[in-house]
Amino acid sequence: AADADHPYGHGRIETAATIVVGILLLGTAALIGHNAVESLAAAAIMPGTLTLAVAVAAVAIKEAVFHYTRRIARRIQSRLLEANAWHHRSDALSSIIVAVGIAGALSGWPILDAVAAIVVALMIAKVAWDLIHQSLRELVDTGLDAAERARLRDSARAVDGVRHVHTLRSRWMGASVLLDLHVQVGPRISVSEGHRIAEAVAAALRARQPRLGDVLVHVDPEDDTGGGPSNALPLRTELVGRLWQRWTGLAVLGRIEDLTLHYLGGRVHVRLTLAPAPAGSAAGAEAEALRAATAGDPAVGSVTILERRAPI
Ligand SMILES: [Zn+2]
Ligand SMILES: [Zn+2]
Repeated sequence: AADADHPYGHGRIETAATIVVGILLLGTAALIGHNAVESLAAAAIMPGTLTLAVAVAAVAIKEAVFHYTRRIARRIQSRLLEANAWHHRSDALSSIIVAVGIAGALSGWPILDAVAAIVVALMIAKVAWDLIHQSLRELVDTGLDAAERARLRDSARAVDGVRHVHTLRSRWMGASVLLDLHVQVGPRISVSEGHRIAEAVAAALRARQPRLGDVLVHVDPEDDTGGGPSNALPLRTELVGRLWQRWTGLAVLGRIEDLTLHYLGGRVHVRLTLAPAPAGSAAGAEAEALRAATAGDPAVGSVTILERRAPI
């Protein structure tokens, strides 16, 4: 679970520990292989049937521990526990070598021991290498494969309100996947609708891929794949300050009720809402003067002026 100092959880520690267990398994394989080669040269000592029974019992117990541990590992999706399970199996396999060796010696085939040992050493080395390889891929931020990314992109695009999806990135963190993506929505929808769509996208992706951990959805009002065209435009306080200077002396100022800014296509598109004009005033001319003054700012694109109707 995450804490203040490790906001993404402790998945990477488990991954590093898995690599350590993998290296231990490789060492076990090397040791078994080395002993096998040595025993090929050594003289065979005749063991008894009791030793054989003990070796067989040891195999059964260690194999049972392996299956039990691996079942838990799969249930909680812990690669570290799975690596530990394989450690138990490597013990079971070494006991098999002992049993096979004893059986071989009892039946006049002392070389069986060494041959079995070499086969087992290779099997353990293979498991160890797979564990290390998987964990290393995770440590270098390997993500989901292309087919799975395409499926997730389709799920996001299918959400109502999403027009395009781009820059979908993922990476494994322990047993879960962190994902971020950009969704392009209608350019003039409200912030709250954009947020609602983003939450719906995250829910749809989670339904599709249960191993997703954190999902970050970035909402775009326009295509920004080649760099956001509107990122250099002034923010509200600066722009409105400039507009107030242009508006100085306009009779209509007291009627401005709402000012909406749309940052699209490298311009700020301004929408002004005015309170109803007093009866007999030159409402049309006042609105036109406001429109012209607003459009004079170099950052401003289109200007829309809405006048509320006076209640009848
Ligand atoms: Zn939110
Ligand atoms: Zn984007």
